[in-house]
Amino acid sequence: MKLETKILETDVLVVGGGTSGCYAALTLANQEDISIIVVDKANIKRSGCLAAGVNAINAYINKGYTPEDFVDYVKKEAEGIIREDLVYSIAKNLNQVTKNMESLGLTILKDSEGEYVTRGKRSIKINGENIKPMLAKEVNAKKNIKVLNKVNIIDYILKDNMVIGAYGFHVEENVFYVIYSKAVICTTGGASGLYKPNNSGFSKHKMWYSPFNTGAGYAMGIRAGAEMTSFEMRFIALRCKDTIAPTGTVAQGVGAEQVNAQGLEYVKNYGKPLTTIRLFATVEENNKGLGPCYLKTKGISKEVEEELYKAYLNMAPAQTLKWIEDDKGPSIENLEIEGTEPYIVGGHAASGYWVDTKRATTIPGLYAAGDVAGGSPKKYVTGCFVEGEIAANAAMKFIKDKENQFIEDKERCAKAIFLENFLRSDESTFSIDEVEEAMQKVMDEYAGGLSKNYLFNSTKLCIAKEKIDELLMLASDLRAKDMRELLQIFEVVDRLYVCKVLIIHLLKRKETRWKCYGENADYPQKNADMLKYVNTVYKDGKVQVVFRNLVKRDEVYEH
Ligand SMILES: Cc1cc2nc3c(=O)[nH]c(=O)nc-3n(C[C@H](O)[C@H](O)[C@H](O)COP(=O)(O)OP(=O)(O)OC[C@H]3O[C@@H](n4cnc5c(N)ncnc54)[C@H](O)[C@@H]3O)c2cc1C
Repeated sequence: MKLETKILETDVLVVGGGTSGCYAALTLANQEDISIIVVDKANIKRSGCLAAGVNAINAYINKGYTPEDFVDYVKKEAEGIIREDLVYSIAKNLNQVTKNMESLGLTILKDSEGEYVTRGKRSIKINGENIKPMLAKEVNAKKNIKVLNKVNIIDYILKDNMVIGAYGFHVEENVFYVIYSKAVICTTGGASGLYKPNNSGFSKHKMWYSPFNTGAGYAMGIRAGAEMTSFEMRFIALRCKDTIAPTGTVAQGVGAEQVNAQGLEYVKNYGKPLTTIRLFATVEENNKGLGPCYLKTKGISKEVEEELYKAYLNMAPAQTLKWIEDDKGPSIENLEIEGTEPYIVGGHAASGYWVDTKRATTIPGLYAAGDVAGGSPKKYVTGCFVEGEIAANAAMKFIKDKENQFIEDKERCAKAIFLENFLRSDESTFSIDEVEEAMQKVMDEYAGGLSKNYLFNSTKLCIAKEKIDELLMLASDLRAKDMRELLQIFEVVDRLYVCKVLIIHLLKRKETRWKCYGENADYPQKNADMLKYVNTVYKDGKVQVVFRNLVKRDEVYEH
């Protein structure tokens, strides 16, 4: 199959039209003489983590708290390893971006005195089912933004060690895109689907994180030689069993305790009630034969039950449907909980691009924001908006007085041939699904997956490393019969690159700092010498490791 090549030029290219991508584009669009292209593999109206909506703003500075308190909280939760400069820059702007979203039409619940209704210390309640269509409408309305829906970006275009654009292809039409830009902002979210998930077969994509965020931004950065940080701080969600819907709505919203099969509250037996400990405690109770574990909702009033039905309809409708289908709501039956498979997500944990305080990556011309950017956990929706804004402002400064740069035709044609090779009609030995399942099995069994209670050791990780490398080789022989399958090939290849780097990060953190997220059986305790960032750079086919010192709150970090 031959692909038609389309060449486009713009000032700033935003890769991924999700939460941070849309916000970055809107920030850029304020400067009317700048042209912007936003590219998304789906349709920005309902793409990424916000597709089904959200029911709370989880990062907000409520009355009586300060941005400094927020930094302290995130640092405590991450057991001391965060980029304080990044978290602080987010914290200072959380309330402003919330206000901006309200002015765009986001419904934020208010009490009788007109104050936002809080949900815990750092969260406020919203009606956010339509948050993504609302953002997309604003982006689509801007004259200087061109949106390319259903275009999957696969790699950056590099010249003289600078990013000067990106390659992509349409997921339905036989078109290869070459997009030149003076700066690129990567906002492709985190990576799901690396590990064997909770559900199998037809329901395998019923997972917590967006199944379409496949780590493309990480993989493109890895292949281009960008420095990555903290992949070993995986994120594992404690979720409602089967539906994998978030539990915060019940835990914080209703103040429900975690109880075991005997109805006993158990988290307190395992240490401070950090997010990691809530999960670890649940895994341990099950190991001891004291499961299933639940959020204790039995006995809540019918009014509160009704509120929960509505709250989940705003974000994870499957949970409300399950309650109704079972004809047993949370007032009658406790809500069973379980851990998910591990994800790589910079918005909940700290894995992602190593950026400076302005969100510039280590490759000139390339910026990162949102779940794909590392160092600042617990950024959630509003933190992603703030990072989108910071990256956009930095990119605007960078492109001043710059001209677009181009590559030679032969380099561009080589990339088109590389794609067409996957579209040849000969059969491949393995199917795309087989490679994906093999990868998930390897990661589950040898790199601390769900079935192994998230535990790993060096011997197992070395086996995982070898097997992931073999799968990467096999994947180069995969064949696609159409553009949709070509997308699936790139998704699995990108995930394999993320796995390859993740395994090295897990190997190099010789301690257990985060229960479950990074549970190293060879080193079951914390090690004070490991109060450092584990960073990596992929060069000449090898993942090289760099240890970096912690960055403090008031520092301005430059590469
Ligand atoms: C189920 C769930 C519930 C949540 N609930 C809340 C909540 O209640 N409150 C809260 O504050 N936070 C919540 N969060 C967290 C928050 O939604 C995320 O942190 C945030 O939306 C991530 O934004 P992002 O811009 O990094 O990624 P996304 O918004 O996911 O955007 C990534 C975009 O990149 C596109 N993309 C990916 N790869 C490519 C490619 N190769 N080429 C082109 N485009 C690509 C995707 O299609 C997507 O549109 C929740 C997250 C999840 C998963």
